[in-house]
Amino acid sequence: MPRIQVLPEHIANKIAAGEVIQRPDSVVKELLENSFDAGATEITLVVEEGGKKLIQVIDNGMGMDETDAVSSFLRHATSKISTYEDLEAINTYGFRGEALASIAAVARVTLKTRQKEFDVATVVQMEGGKPRVTKEAREPGTTISVHNLFHNVPARRKFLKSNTTEFRHVYETVQRMALSHSHVAIDFVSDGEVVLSLKPAGLKERITDIFGERVTEGIVWMEERTEYIAVCGFIGKPQFGQKTRLNQFLFLNDRFINNRNITHAVFSSYENLLLKGTFPFFVLFIEIDPHRVDVNVHPSKMEAKFEDEHAVYHFISTLVRRTLSSNELIPAMTTTAQGAEVGFAFTSSQHSWPENRGAHQATDWAFPARQSNVGREFADRLLKHPFQEQSVSPEAAGFPTTSAPVWQMHNTYILIQIENGLMVIDQHVAHERVLYERALSRFASANPVTQEVLFPRTMQLTPGDYVLAKELLPHFKKLGFSLNPFGKNTLMVEGVPPDLKGVSETNVLQDVLDLYREYQSKGITDARDALAKSYSCKAAIKAGDKMNDAEMRALIDQLFQTEMPYVCPHGRPVVLKISIEELHKRFGRQ
Ligand code: ADP
Ligand code: MG
Repeated sequence: MPRIQVLPEHIANKIAAGEVIQRPDSVVKELLENSFDAGATEITLVVEEGGKKLIQVIDNGMGMDETDAVSSFLRHATSKISTYEDLEAINTYGFRGEALASIAAVARVTLKTRQKEFDVATVVQMEGGKPRVTKEAREPGTTISVHNLFHNVPARRKFLKSNTTEFRHVYETVQRMALSHSHVAIDFVSDGEVVLSLKPAGLKERITDIFGERVTEGIVWMEERTEYIAVCGFIGKPQFGQKTRLNQFLFLNDRFINNRNITHAVFSSYENLLLKGTFPFFVLFIEIDPHRVDVNVHPSKMEAKFEDEHAVYHFISTLVRRTLSSNELIPAMTTTAQGAEVGFAFTSSQHSWPENRGAHQATDWAFPARQSNVGREFADRLLKHPFQEQSVSPEAAGFPTTSAPVWQMHNTYILIQIENGLMVIDQHVAHERVLYERALSRFASANPVTQEVLFPRTMQLTPGDYVLAKELLPHFKKLGFSLNPFGKNTLMVEGVPPDLKGVSETNVLQDVLDLYREYQSKGITDARDALAKSYSCKAAIKAGDKMNDAEMRALIDQLFQTEMPYVCPHGRPVVLKISIEELHKRFGRQ
């Protein structure tokens, strides 16, 4: 007797439904996406018992006619793609035509929908896989009600968590969708209580409506684009770091995604600016030609693959760094943080263009309801609103100008007059920052820059250091050291990086090896970063070294060309600012 049977359709449907619908929040996500796809500008979501008893989505979108209303429940019935090419470049949220069929397989579903060309709405009730059609009055738009989720799949129903937990998941889903659709009015009612009542807004207002003023005060706008990618959104200032990673939102072509790599790109760009155990807030929109990403990796569609993830990582990391450093994160000496307590009391810039601009731009950038060719649209809009130059003049940003008076104090600190006060720079950490970034860029470049030494020197190492040096040889070479292992634990030093001036190269090399070991013992695994850190620390000018006027100016210049002038690679502050108002206050002039 044959043992293989084709499963009856209602069972196959239940199994497939499990892929798409895991819990109430998956239903909410699918229904809201359908409403956005239908061009709705007002959506109400009603849930009861965390969505277990009822999930209802009411929208004012384009609606469906009777035929479509019935076929919308068929598996793989979709109005959104019809060819394989469409699948290659997905512009709408839905595309599998699976959601309604799946939901109807595991819950009692009623659909009520009206297109504005018709006078009455079609009501479709699915009963035992069969549609029952009636007519009723309704404004144009669609209402879908999902009762008793998993009533016919006890195993699934048992797997659901408490109402509170399921509600929390639903809330998170709504939050994400509300962020990427700030132009859509969204009301969210749970067990008769209004949870969110969001009016159409720009992104910044929407963030305020969801997270409160306190979060909005601490965010800055950033945006950048190339032919390949456009990124815009808000990131939190470091001093507004949050205790949780929950408030980090990444959207790819308006679709919420989880991507640890990209999240890491943002996080790591804060370097040591964040207090330990805090995380930056961010809401970032990445737009890439849909052909160059794959959102089809998982039915829940939250994972995405980039064609060139490395490039995206680098792009975002550079943008975040630049945004942070152009927002004047210089610790300032203030009356409230006296003496030894002068630490990282960050001031936000007087010239905080990004915030104002953000509010304005966010409205401009409010992404429209999804429609086909979003990528093109996006590009067009960008062309119509060309980006303003990012750079602010040095004076306006509170940077020193080239003609400002400079002094060296105790051969350790550089003092320089700036427009609204005095800047104090720690010469060692400043130089360290410069050398660190230079080292990193040398690692990334193909052609090492080295300066041949007139008289190559031999250097005697311990056997352990000799092995380590040989291991690091390719990295040393990129840094600019031309080293030749000579056998018997000796290295011949034939070339050095051009920035090593007036110091003994063999001493520096020995110090770098020692410090590198220390980093290694602390578990730092990125060899290049550890090497860049030890090199910059050991090759930098020391506290106590005399500097002349030209050297100080050159250093200041180079410092403010780095991506992150305000902290050294180890997290120590590089610059401190004393404002003229602060001095006036202390001398009783105010
Ligand atoms: P998909 O969204 O992948 O196409 P769904 O099962 O979610 O599949 O929906 C099936 C079809 O039903 C959609 O393609 C769309 O034509 C229609 N539809 C679903 N929800 C709505 C809605 N709120 N307004 C208008 N049409 C809708
Ligand atoms: Mg859908």
